[in-house]
Amino acid sequence: MLIGGRPVDSGQRMHIIDPGDEELVATVAQGDVSHIDAAVAAAKTAFERGTWSRATPHDRAEVMHRIAAAAHQASDELIELEMACNGATIRLATGFHIGYALSHFSYFADLAESYAWQRPAPVETFPVLSQSVVHREPIGVVGAITPWNFPLLLTIWKIGPALAAGNSVVVKPDEHTPLSILEFAGIAEHNGLPPGVLNVVPGEGRVAGARLASHPDVGKIAFTGSTAVGREIMRLASGTVKQVTLELGGKGPSVVLDDADLDLAVDGVLYGCFAYSGQICESGTRALIPAALHDEFVDRLVTRAKTIVVGPTRDWDTDLGPVIDAAQRQRILNYIDDARAAGAAVALGGEAITGGSFDKGFWLAPTILTGVSNDMTIAREEVFGPVLVVIGYDDDEHAIEIANDSDYGLAASIWTSDNARGLAMAERIRAGSVWINDAHQINCKLPFGGYKQSGIGRELGPDALDAYTEVKTVHLDLSGGREAKPYDVLLGNA
Ligand code: NAD
Repeated sequence: MLIGGRPVDSGQRMHIIDPGDEELVATVAQGDVSHIDAAVAAAKTAFERGTWSRATPHDRAEVMHRIAAAAHQASDELIELEMACNGATIRLATGFHIGYALSHFSYFADLAESYAWQRPAPVETFPVLSQSVVHREPIGVVGAITPWNFPLLLTIWKIGPALAAGNSVVVKPDEHTPLSILEFAGIAEHNGLPPGVLNVVPGEGRVAGARLASHPDVGKIAFTGSTAVGREIMRLASGTVKQVTLELGGKGPSVVLDDADLDLAVDGVLYGCFAYSGQICESGTRALIPAALHDEFVDRLVTRAKTIVVGPTRDWDTDLGPVIDAAQRQRILNYIDDARAAGAAVALGGEAITGGSFDKGFWLAPTILTGVSNDMTIAREEVFGPVLVVIGYDDDEHAIEIANDSDYGLAASIWTSDNARGLAMAERIRAGSVWINDAHQINCKLPFGGYKQSGIGRELGPDALDAYTEVKTVHLDLSGGREAKPYDVLLGNA
């Protein structure tokens, strides 16, 4: 782990396994409460020293750009580290996991310079002549707790704005995937980030993560992960009234309207659900199809889905890799079994892939379930696997009702050839992102986050730094005398 600019060992080891072949990738020091405490202390000292927290935004931006450039040089290694830990395919890891991560870090470096750190208010004459300035200042120590699906990208969504704002950070990566952020933090240290500003403590969520979420010297917790753990983080953070940003689960609707370009919609629905084996929070896992089109659409979905190539992650021809681990594969299979028992029919897949090279690794066939109603568990809970449920609907109102009938509200897709109709439906959908004729459209210049139990706050976009700053209003009295002041509420007889 990296604490206060130094590599630290704990004597305890976590074993990192490649989900594609079950080979041991690395062993990593496992931190506990004492290591979180040491990391928070190092972060606090670095913050108070001021080398980073009081550097000019321009100087911070310069260091961050240097780090981004050095990380680009190391991108092949970062891609390999992510693939080895989380089973992303090489196409996905190159473009999304690392490509996005590094370009988003550069975006936050730019934001450090363009952000309005001081916002002067107009001169006031009442109750006294005065001028105020609203300052945005770093919070102090920020804790970042991150998941395994996009380890570096989702960490950069937190450390990018946190560092740009001058905070110090302690990252607790997921147990499966500590390698890329450890590598990135090393690159950051070698390229001008002062020691203690970025600390990384791998460890168990319920031990190291829980300590970070409740630590009295941590001013803010940024978390991406499941809704269940998000609730717990919020509870732990409440003890010292920390700020929280939570990016949680989803059960996205992919609404195909009756005027949709069906070739586009079929590919789009499959991409929206099966990319990275459905292990993306904003995946469109519920396909809502007009009843009149249902059978034809399912046939087309199944025919097209059969062309998806499941195979070794490092092969450029592979479309889909494994799921993250054996326990998650079993959990997904249990969901499929429960859905069958509740009346769903398996139109495709529904089972583990085994035999030959698939005997090692955690392989699961892309699965399409029909005969699903929106009140079934498979339509309500986040499966986080390659499982698409198809739900029929009668008219647009019915589609909106089903789309919104969810505890989640992270993202939705609408497929239509009528832009006005798509925009009108987008207004009615209760989700943080709505994509018309597309899916997975994450843009670092635009806010991303969830309604309802999909989270609190937004990451990305021009205001991303707001969530990593305290707001201070500084009032400067310009009246130059006592006469105009309202002191008589206290000193009426003076
Ligand atoms: P998870 O909630 O199990 O774990 C996420 C992190 O929380 C890990 O670092 C884990 O160690 C830590 N953790 C676990 N228990 C903890 C506790 N008691 N206290 C503190 N920390 C604890 O999630 P996961 O399985 O790693 O990731 C998948 C989930 O993440 C899915 O639900 C997915 O939808 C969600 N996700 C959301 C977004 C988003 O932006 N909304 C993005 C990616 C993933």
